[in-house]
Amino acid sequence: MSTKTYDTIVIGGGPAGMMAAGRAGERGQSVLLLEKNSKLGKKLLISGGGRCNLTNNKDNQSLVRSYKGNPKALNSLFARFNVEDTLNFFKSRGLDTKEEEYGRMFPITDKAESVWEVLKTYVEDSNVEILYDSSVIGISKNDMITVQTNVESYQCKSCIVAVGGLSRPETGSTGDGYIWLEQLGHTIIDNRLALVPLATQEEWPHTISGVSLDHIRLSIWQNRKKISSYNGKILFTHFGVSGPTILNMSSEIGGLLQNDKVSIEIDLRPDLDYAELKEAFNTLLQKESNKSIKNSLPKLIQSSISKVLLEIVNIEPSTPNHSIKKEDRKALMKLIKSLPLSIKGLMGADKAVVSAGGIRLEDINITTMESNITKGIYIVGDLLNVDRPSGGYSLQLCWSTGYVAGDNS
Ligand SMILES: Cc1cc2nc3c(=O)[nH]c(=O)nc-3n(C[C@H](O)[C@H](O)[C@H](O)COP(=O)(O)OP(=O)(O)OC[C@H]3O[C@@H](n4cnc5c(N)ncnc54)[C@H](O)[C@@H]3O)c2cc1C
Repeated sequence: MSTKTYDTIVIGGGPAGMMAAGRAGERGQSVLLLEKNSKLGKKLLISGGGRCNLTNNKDNQSLVRSYKGNPKALNSLFARFNVEDTLNFFKSRGLDTKEEEYGRMFPITDKAESVWEVLKTYVEDSNVEILYDSSVIGISKNDMITVQTNVESYQCKSCIVAVGGLSRPETGSTGDGYIWLEQLGHTIIDNRLALVPLATQEEWPHTISGVSLDHIRLSIWQNRKKISSYNGKILFTHFGVSGPTILNMSSEIGGLLQNDKVSIEIDLRPDLDYAELKEAFNTLLQKESNKSIKNSLPKLIQSSISKVLLEIVNIEPSTPNHSIKKEDRKALMKLIKSLPLSIKGLMGADKAVVSAGGIRLEDINITTMESNITKGIYIVGDLLNVDRPSGGYSLQLCWSTGYVAGDNS
């Protein structure tokens, strides 16, 4: 049995673990990084559709407010490493970033691989020893901390646990950390999937899989009552719907589905009220009275979705506008303002972006990321109970918690 001893052992080589290991090594510590896969950061490489939305351009106060429940404890974290520090970290290592809609920041290369390369180089330049194909099976604490892998055990003064949550288990995050940390006395809060695409009863979304619609309004309904509305974007998929706005709605929908059926309605023209839409629609059909409805409708709504609407109302697409019946006009307008989708359920862990719940923040000293329950254990990244929306907030949490843990381990 190996008795090799390190200052710090980092378990898990995702974004939080790589940042933590790099920072601890940079400070001159002897660091071992244990990764169960044969490659670091598999999830990072698929983030943001392969483009990696690495943070969100916000000052500290607005950043904290963006996390669900406005967790005040995060103020102390971002006081130590915030969005500006993240952008400087990548810039000083040769990777520029660019801002897109809603403050989302991406690498200028549009490639998650560029972000991955910066971190991998950071870890290597900090003299971190990396062991691949090393699956940790347990952690125990006496005077020192012992980390047991599938083949050997190692000892350290500080152990940073960065094994991720439950989403996309094929990338390596299978929730192992929750078991060890619970055994060490930590409380796990409501561990469930969040930011999950939705499966729909209707089959038409499958027929336009890959199409996305922007500037729409999505309303959640249950028992004929409107529960809430979100403005944003939708992406149709081969199983239903996804995209940033749907992901952000998924947690609420998941909760509602436990009580009863849920549907969503898409307002394709939230900029027009019903009377304005009626006027615009009738004027268009009058002006283009000899044209076919399939050529005119895309002047009001995107053409891929206009085909779907004609199919639902059962209108032959080549019908001239002057022959569209009054009741069909009415039905089309109703669909433009409230296109319904019945939600079959949330997709599973294989499709989720992050899991919500996790290690209770009260059990952690946020200024160092050290556990208050087991001294010498640091907990970072997706393992933590911080509910966050889509938009770069998950990775910012990884950069901040990883850096702070590596700075204090
Ligand atoms: C499809 C997709 C797209 C996303 N896009 C974005 C985005 O654009 N912006 C954003 O902010 N967030 C995004 N996220 C979320 C973001 O990727 C995660 O928040 C982030 O990867 C979490 O980092 P982590 O280091 O905590 O854990 P992970 O990335 O899950 O890494 C954990 C690591 O630990 C290893 N490990 C697990 N168990 C063990 C063990 N027993 N022994 C040794 N090693 C182990 C795993 O193999 C893995 O390498 C996306 C997620 C998904 C799934």
